Amino acid sequence: MTDETNAGGDELPSVIVVGGGPAGLSAALFTAKNGLETTVFDTDETWMHKAHLFNYLGIGSVGGSEFMATARQQVEDFGADRRQGEEVAGVERTDDGFVVDTEEGRYESTYVVFATGANRDLAEDLGCAFTDDGVVDVGVEMETSVENAYATGAMVRVEEWQAAIAVGDGAAAGLNILSEVRGERFHDFDVPADAERVFGEAVAE
Ligand SMILES: Cc1cc2nc3c(=O)[nH]c(=O)nc-3n(C[C@H](O)[C@H](O)[C@H](O)COP(=O)(O)OP(=O)(O)OC[C@H]3O[C@@H](n4cnc5c(N)ncnc54)[C@H](O)[C@@H]3O)c2cc1C
Repeated sequence: MTDETNAGGDELPSVIVVGGGPAGLSAALFTAKNGLETTVFDTDETWMHKAHLFNYLGIGSVGGSEFMATARQQVEDFGADRRQGEEVAGVERTDDGFVVDTEEGRYESTYVVFATGANRDLAEDLGCAFTDDGVVDVGVEMETSVENAYATGAMVRVEEWQAAIAVGDGAAAGLNILSEVRGERFHDFDVPADAERVFGEAVAE
């Protein structure tokens, strides 16, 4: 909320992610992990609750809801503010960013990432350009025709609806926001020594 829990900041750029499925949480992971104030709104209608993954590289078999529970925890552990159950009703452009309205309040941010699955209404209302196929028009960096507004996952794809692709789209959006903020191409590269710093004695082999 603008007065109490303002997601925007006077100094550091901030990010609002609309939709907490694989695409949105992946974007939030990158931006929160690398110091940007990040808020995720989600109504928990992700298709992942209907899925069981055998096709996510590096994971043999995992239930979709179990995958989401791990993802949510991971994003929270890196500092994102997850507002579960809070639906975004509208997103508007302002002079220096965006204002996001929910039933609970009004939030400001420098960047917005749409990750609302097959529902593209909010992006359309903001004025994002669509392709002839009826999906939000983005390139590999996931930025829409509206500056600093990104779109990711099922909403930018006609049929390639896979968790791994959504996660990749979200990562691309997060990384590109970080590059914009820092003014140079950003790489989120960690090395084994970082694992001990992050996880302490609970380091995985
Ligand atoms: C039956 C089924 C089986 C599947 N099996 C597989 C599989 O085996 N492997 C695989 O890779 N993929 C599978 N998928 C596809 C996979 O679930 C999707 O590709 C993936 O969930 C898309 O991620 P997303 O983040 O783009 O969208 P979603 O996962 O749909 O997430 C969008 C989120 O945004 C939220 N949201 C929407 N509007 C708002 C709003 N206004 N305010 C706040 N929150 C909002 C929704 O509640 C939802 O939680 C399956 C899908 C189905 C339906």
